[in-house]
Amino acid sequence: MSFEKIPMKTPLVEMDGDEMTRVIWQMIKDLLLAPYIDLNLEYYDLGLPHRDETGDQVTVDSANATKKYGVAVKCATITPNAQRMEEYKLHEMWKSPNGTIRAILDGTVFRAPILAKGITPYIPSWKKPITIARHAFGDIYKNTETTVPPGAKAEIVVTLPDGTQQRQTVHQFGESGGVFQGQFNVDESIESFARSCFNFALDTRQDIWFSSKDTISKKYDHRFKDIFQEIYDSEYAKKFAEAGIEYFYTLIDDAVARVVRSEGGFIWACKNYDGDVMSDMVATAFGSLGMMTSVLVAPDGTCEYEAAHGTVTRHYYKHLKGEETSTNSVATLFAWTGALRKRGQLDGNGRLMDFAGKLEEATVETIEGGIMTGDLAAMSTLPEIKKVNTRDFLMAIKERLESKL
Ligand code: NAP
Ligand code: MG
Repeated sequence: MSFEKIPMKTPLVEMDGDEMTRVIWQMIKDLLLAPYIDLNLEYYDLGLPHRDETGDQVTVDSANATKKYGVAVKCATITPNAQRMEEYKLHEMWKSPNGTIRAILDGTVFRAPILAKGITPYIPSWKKPITIARHAFGDIYKNTETTVPPGAKAEIVVTLPDGTQQRQTVHQFGESGGVFQGQFNVDESIESFARSCFNFALDTRQDIWFSSKDTISKKYDHRFKDIFQEIYDSEYAKKFAEAGIEYFYTLIDDAVARVVRSEGGFIWACKNYDGDVMSDMVATAFGSLGMMTSVLVAPDGTCEYEAAHGTVTRHYYKHLKGEETSTNSVATLFAWTGALRKRGQLDGNGRLMDFAGKLEEATVETIEGGIMTGDLAAMSTLPEIKKVNTRDFLMAIKERLESKL
């Protein structure tokens, strides 16, 4: 086939990763990207051995490059624990790369499923994707907590800049001791979160809901509600009206009920803990983790695309033993298409955007045509299914893609 490769004006930041997703990463590049695009990539190897060699500097460098160029695509990476320290003989238990990158970009994570006919959500009314936006800063994830002995008094003390103190009793413990925890968030981060959410809603032309527990938490959660409303009214109400989309706030209990009864097709913005839990619930209800994409959006519009799942360790160990794997590459592939489309948008590169769309279509059509990996084959309702291995799935997509170019 003769095909004039698509040029790329500005580099796309590439963050390589670990284990099975690293294997898939290379296959996607070799089979589905490099033959058609004159790839202009700024490569950072975030694989655990290289993070360890560089004292994790490579993670920081990759995040700064993302700030510079505006778009990145990231492979799943290992977050080390005690067992990984041993396995990789690490110098230190490096922090989660996603946490480091998020802290530098100050972004919000949006997770959305990819739908295909024959892969039916557990909730039959869901016809369109539900995107979850998680405020990935503060609250219980930055808490201070302690166990408390019987008879102790737990207090909150806030020391003002002038030295005066505001003191409130949280609980006077009696014969039973217990537990105590302090949490915080900062207005600036909540404001960034709100703006990222509203921008993403405008970008994707979807309604956005925000929920919290403001009826119980009259200061803390209420602050989130107020900040969202103020920013919406002053900066976004008009743009939303023009785009024909809607913002509304509702209590988290009500949001859960509405989500379950909905058709999908909206963004649900959640506080940190709610987003953590609800995104797992939504991902599971839509089907496979292998079909869940994730994008980190900074308030200035910088984007980092990835799959929501991890490095699929169990499959990697099989692969290392020379056994055949059938790992779903869809979310990783959509991380690439998302990033290439965004790069195309920023550079005014229509061919690149068009290519991203065709590659996505070819992927979904391959599954709808009955060719899929094991995770999907186990849940598909199609009458005829051909379960294929990791590589053959990508080859089937390639065949469809070529018929579209
Ligand atoms: P995982 O890699 O998401 O895999 C958990 C299980 O989900 C797999 O064993 C597999 O089930 C299934 N699965 C996930 N993705 C799949 C895919 N693409 N195709 C088919 N099946 C898929 O989570 P984990 O095992 O808890 O974590 C492994 C490593 O990933 C850890 O070191 C963790 O730190 C890292 N991690 C990284 C990120 C990130 O970089 N964003 C996120 C989460 C975890 P079966 O084994 O039943 O087939
Ligand atoms: Mg979770």
